[in-house]
This record gives sequence, structure tokens and C-alpha cells, in this order.
Amino acid sequence: MRTQEGKEAKALAIIRRLREQGFEAYLAGGCVRDRLLGAPAKDYDIAADARPDVVRRLFDQTVAVGARFGVIIVVMDGEQFEVATFRADAPYLDGRRPSDVRFGSIEEDARRRDFTINGMYLDPQSERVIDLVGGMSDLRAGKIRTIGRPDERFAEDRLRMIRAIRFAARLSFAIDPATLAAIQAQAHAVKVVSAERIGEELTRILTEGGPAVGMELLRGSGLMGELLPEMLALEHCEQPANFHPEGDVYRHTMLALSMLEPGCAETLAFGVLLHDIAKPRCRALSDNRVTFYGHCEHGAEMAREILRRLRRPRAVEERVAYLVRYHLRLCMAPRMRQATLKRMLVEDGFNNLLELSLLDALASNSYLGYYHFCRRALADLDGQKPRPSRLVTGHDLIAAGLTPGPRLGEILREIEDLQLEGTLTDREQALAYVRQRLAGPQPK
Ligand code: ATP
Ligand code: MG
Repeated sequence: MRTQEGKEAKALAIIRRLREQGFEAYLAGGCVRDRLLGAPAKDYDIAADARPDVVRRLFDQTVAVGARFGVIIVVMDGEQFEVATFRADAPYLDGRRPSDVRFGSIEEDARRRDFTINGMYLDPQSERVIDLVGGMSDLRAGKIRTIGRPDERFAEDRLRMIRAIRFAARLSFAIDPATLAAIQAQAHAVKVVSAERIGEELTRILTEGGPAVGMELLRGSGLMGELLPEMLALEHCEQPANFHPEGDVYRHTMLALSMLEPGCAETLAFGVLLHDIAKPRCRALSDNRVTFYGHCEHGAEMAREILRRLRRPRAVEERVAYLVRYHLRLCMAPRMRQATLKRMLVEDGFNNLLELSLLDALASNSYLGYYHFCRRALADLDGQKPRPSRLVTGHDLIAAGLTPGPRLGEILREIEDLQLEGTLTDREQALAYVRQRLAGPQPK
């Protein structure tokens, strides 16, 4: 909270400086919304009637990345603030971005913003709110409504359709009926937006709060069929009631999503979203029993495809594929060899996997035995070195007379297993084991 106050104080200092020079300057957009809701703002954007060149002259440290669009970044005590000149957008020609901007009045600046709750200004010195678009009453009523005609505003910039859903989900607001109807009418055109920006928005819907509400809104608005069509197949994919009293795979996934904390890792969120994505494809009946054999492996591949399509980072793709592939592996933990169990516990993504399996269980029959088993095993590991350094290396094995090849790797792994299980504790014992192995029968 303190850093928040510090940041706001710096924003205020910028506004004061602009005012001293005779300009009009305000906090603008999202930070005003958040402040009125009593929520911490992510960034403080400033809007003023000063031109970019003037802003550059007034402050010591500035970056002119968006000068052409009227935006200057002012660096104040190490923190960055966007200072934008009041502007009006020229026509949008491609459903993505304005063809040009020109400087304008505060009224024009408000009208080019997306939603009424995002279109207000605040004078932080007097706490006066400048609301030219009816933002205050929508904020009170909990409504997402476009500024101006929704069909025109979404046709200008299709990304706004996904933003509407993100804000509705995150703030638990309703989308105004006319705004929602316009999204439904234009959902089919959302793909003119770049895959990167779509991926970014979907990630934010999943991680900023209300992910299940967000997915429901995507489905109800017709956007899901465009952006995540694989999810639609989960609906009406029935599963055995003894394991899944909650209902079909879609319902199960929504329940699991609804338990994610705002601010959670993207990898966990996508892991939860996609853990059962291949169930429809793998559903089969054997002896009158419904089975989903192979859904973990197929699901991991589908998750990769989806995340690649959304241009998420490679590391995210890897981790989510790991989560989907192994999301049922915890059930095997009590029957694993000590070495196998320990190897699993120290895997990079294991904490994510543990959380996923908790949500998976809570969203179905709520059996937490395997989860607690692994938590206990992890606690037992605590204090021990996660991966003890090797007792012997490949060089030692070669020195002992082994020729390089697959057998060398096999023996190294055996030694590591025995080490993890506590049978071999030092180098001498390990070398003795090697000699014994080499003296034994050699496989052909
Ligand atoms: P967040 O808390 O997610 O950052 P925000 O409202 O601050 O929400 P930003 O993307 O940071 O959103 O944009 C800042 C402001 O710029 C918004 O509040 C809105 O007024 C305006 N804005 C952003 N994107 C668009 C858009 N696609 N169309 C119109 N106005 C937009
Ligand atoms: Mg913002």
C-alpha cells in the first residue's frame, strides 16, 4: 500500500508541475475507476492539454516512445508515468487502431475511450471528478457500457469486446444489454485482432479475477467459439457421477477455475483451464463404463497448440503441457518408489501441479488424500537438499572400465535412485556398487 501511495504522490507531483505552468492536467481512465472503487491502481495515467514537446521540456527525464500519438513517458524518481495530450482519434479503418490522432479537447479525449467507467478524470488536489460520459452512475450500478454506440465502438476496435469481458469478470460487473448484444453481433470478427493481443487479454481474464465468469461471458457472447473453440466441446461431455458429482467436463472446469486466486500464475490458470481439454476426444465406453484413456497425453498436445496459437511464451507452453500431462499423477504417489516420488517432488513445476490437483479434486469428489500425501512428503523433504549432488560421474564409470553408451546412463540412474532412497550415502559406497555391477552379468 505504501508503494501505491508513493506512486500516487509522484503522479500528483507531475500534475502539479503541469498546473503551475498553466495547463489543465488530471489523472485519467483506469486509475480513476480503480481509485473510486477503492482498489489499488496498476498505473497512473495523466491526461493534459499540454502538447508532447512541452511535456518533454517541463520534465528532466522523459521518453518519447508514443510522441506521435501524443503520449510522453515521464520518469519521476525512477517510476514511469504516461502523460497524454488530450486527443481525438481519427477514423478506425481496420478494426484495430485509429488511422491517426489529433489533439483535441477533454470532451473528445473522453469520447475516444472504451467504457464509461474508464472515461473519467480526477483532479487529485481537489478530489473533483470530471465525468462527461456517465461513468459515475455506471460505476455505482456495476455496469460495463461503451461510450457512444456499442456497434460503432466495437467495429472501430474489436479488442474492446474482450476488454469488456475482462472488466466485467474482474470487477463482477454486468455488461449492459445493448453492449452485450453488440458483442454477440460482432463476435465473428474478433480475429482481425492480432493473436498476441488476444492471447494477452485471455491471459488477463484468467489471472485478474473472475476467470469462470469471464469464460461464461466468452461463451455467452459467442467469442469462445472464435477464440477457444476447444472449450465448447467440454459442454455435455458427461462423466461418471461417482468421481464427478458436479456434472459434465465444462461444469467441472468452471468450478475449478472459480477457485483460482486473482494474481495467480498464468501457468496454473491455463493448466486449470485446459487440464481436461482432451476428454471429449478420448471419451469411450468399455464394459458399460465411461473412460477417458489418453486424455492427459492428448490434452498436453492440445494445450501446446492452443498456447502457440495465442502466442504465449515458450516457457508457459512447456509448463502448461507438463501440468496437463501429469495432472493425474499424484494419485500414484503413495505407490511410487521413494526415488520416483522424490524426483517428482523436486520437479520445477511441481508446486503448480499440486495446486492444480487440489482444485481438480475440490471441483469434483473432493477426495484430498493424494494431495495431503504429497504435501506431507514435501514437508519431509524440507531441510534436505532437493537434489543431492552426484556421488559419482560418468568419468568415474569410464575409469572403472565401462564403455560410454546407454548402459552408462542406466547405472548412473540406478546410483541416483539408491542415493535418493538413502541406500548409498557416499562416494566410496557408490564406487563399490559400480564394481559390483560391472562384475555381474553383462546384458547383450
Ligand atoms: P487496467 O487496470 O487493466 O490497466 P485500464 O482501464 O487502465 O485497465 P489500460 O489498457 O491501461 O486499461 O488503458 C488505460 C485507459 O485507456 C483505459 O482506461 C481507457 O480509457 C483507454 N483505453 C485503453 N484501451 C482502449 C481501447 N482499446 N479503446 C479505447 N480506449 C482504450
Ligand atoms: Mg491501466
